[in-house]
Amino acid sequence: MKNDIESILISEEDIQKKVVELAKVLDEEYEGKNPLLVGVLKGGLPFMADLIKKMEIYLEIDFMDVSSYGNDTVSSGEVKILKDLDTNVEGRHVLFVEDIIDTGGTLAYLKDLFKYRKAASVKIVTILDKPSGRKIDISADWVGFTVPHKFVVGYGLDYAENYRNLPFIGVLKPEVYQ
Ligand code: 5GP
Ligand code: MG
Ligand code: MG
Repeated sequence: MKNDIESILISEEDIQKKVVELAKVLDEEYEGKNPLLVGVLKGGLPFMADLIKKMEIYLEIDFMDVSSYGNDTVSSGEVKILKDLDTNVEGRHVLFVEDIIDTGGTLAYLKDLFKYRKAASVKIVTILDKPSGRKIDISADWVGFTVPHKFVVGYGLDYAENYRNLPFIGVLKPEVYQ
């Protein structure tokens, strides 16, 4: 699998350092608020798992599965809820834990939905941000790394459901798509 990678953009070590930094900032932000961290499946899973282990405050977790991509490398622009929360979010401080913000479609949809559901606050932490892909003017509250306008894989991010288990962020060799 690692032979399919053309280059590593962000190393495992850099990701882990960043996770520790973000956890500290989030601990300060949410101390005493018992936040509900919502992992956005499947891509947000590795980041969610690493992040909560570095946070030291009381918090709860839940997961949603939404999809905006097929087995393609271009966004369809469509958001579907494949799995909803088990938790009532009314009055809760919700923090979405995302893999990447690209067009912003997923994020915009989830923010609106959770405001409608009367969450006390709705914020987003993402390990990656791809500002060049934005179609909706929206930004995450906390960003790990900004990536160039490339299709990246690893640390939760897939190509046709593979590569999510890579511990780093990389770019695939062009022949892998063919
Ligand atoms: P958005 O709704 O912001 O366009 O995209 C969110 C989702 O698109 C991400 O959670 C991710 O699943 C997918 N996505 C966007 N850019 C990339 C990318 O560079 N690589 C991969 N593997 N998925 C991406
Ligand atoms: Mg995502
Ligand atoms: Mg995907």
